[in-house]
Amino acid sequence: MAQRVQGTEDLFGSYMRAWQRMQDVAREVFGTYGFDMIETPAIEQVATFVHGIGESTDVVRKEMFRVFSGALVESLLAKGSESGLKAKQRLALRPEGTAGVVRAAVQNNLVPQGSAPAKLWYAGPMFRGERPQKGRLRQFHQVGVEWLGAPDPAADAECIVMLMQFFERLGFPSQSLRLSINSMGDGACRPAYREKVRAFILDHADQMCADCLERAELNPLRAFDCKNDHCHAVMAGAPLAPNNLCEDCAEHYEQVKRYLDEAGVCYEEDPTLVRGLDYYTRTVFEVEVVGSGVGAIGGGGRYDGLMELEGGKPTPGLGFAVGFERIVLALESQGVLLGEDSQECVYVACTPDVRSSVFGTVLALRNAGIRTEADYQGRSLKSQFKQADKLGATICVVLGTDEVERGAATLRNMRTHEQVEVSLSDLAKRVAEQLA
Ligand code: AMP
Repeated sequence: MAQRVQGTEDLFGSYMRAWQRMQDVAREVFGTYGFDMIETPAIEQVATFVHGIGESTDVVRKEMFRVFSGALVESLLAKGSESGLKAKQRLALRPEGTAGVVRAAVQNNLVPQGSAPAKLWYAGPMFRGERPQKGRLRQFHQVGVEWLGAPDPAADAECIVMLMQFFERLGFPSQSLRLSINSMGDGACRPAYREKVRAFILDHADQMCADCLERAELNPLRAFDCKNDHCHAVMAGAPLAPNNLCEDCAEHYEQVKRYLDEAGVCYEEDPTLVRGLDYYTRTVFEVEVVGSGVGAIGGGGRYDGLMELEGGKPTPGLGFAVGFERIVLALESQGVLLGEDSQECVYVACTPDVRSSVFGTVLALRNAGIRTEADYQGRSLKSQFKQADKLGATICVVLGTDEVERGAATLRNMRTHEQVEVSLSDLAKRVAEQLA
């Protein structure tokens, strides 16, 4: 039997319905805030991710799936190196959504000078070559938003409020959600802060893991995220970002918090929160579900330099992404099933001699927008009823010889087992009335 790739999943049944439900909720909630959907390709040039996410990040260095055509692989094997490849031949499956959306915004001039901000949301698969485990896949799904052209701290707060509303609409009790926020500074104050953290790590070099020593050179702030408990304990004494903000960043952060207070959103300030990707500036945030054991279910922040890194004009930006698979796990920990099939269905059952009348009856009901099922396997009437029960049908339309001759059918309420005879000519109307 052919096998699916390790760390990937097939989405079907209630799992697929959950993914669709999540997109429906996203469309409703984000739509209220004026966001439109965008879909960018799942493959982009490696350069798009290197510019956006950062050369030194694990995502770019270790986790990106590179894509080569068969012909290119042959020539690479013959040459033994990819150094001669052009930028357009260096492709990767997207590990996240932001870099591609920002690339699209630059290429399609979605934020012309002097225009209103672009507000975009997306939903789709992302790919990272991580070691597969619970809640960590190689192909997973994200829903995310990008808001380009808005420097105002109100935008940061609105983005966070919208994210929390999205989670609540999915079914998370608000007290189960833990929102952490921090400010990472900007081009004016971050370089000096980075340098302080680098110096701190080097001062404690004998207590830190080899990865953190490498991080000290490449991306020192990532040491706050080290999975190693010992490094974590050492980093608790490191200089903290909120104490090292320039005046503008400090004021921006204060205003974001004021707006969050005004909106009544509960948050915790976590001065060690640094997001994994290089592009973040100022506000960053992450959401966890208390006690779910699945890690962060979403996060994001401001990335005021990213449009420029992707070749556009300096344009502020911010956004977030949430992970579908982890949300489903976290919802289950709260006893919520996202993919439950709540659609009502009607079942048309018949005796064998009037089987040919089912076709037209089913069509008439479906034309009226009623979800309708029937038997296509020649089952007995008794097993058709059983099948109707299994499918959760609320009404059975029963066609028998005498009824069909009279131009009628019996409507059987599957809950109360009450039956009424109705005329086939106004069947759809009568079924709709009963469903209502
Ligand atoms: P990130 O882009 O790393 O900030 O991730 C945003 C969200 O995507 C996380 O909070 C997770 O919910 C989800 N996520 C990230 N990586 C994975 C993965 N390998 N497998 C499943 N979900 C993931």
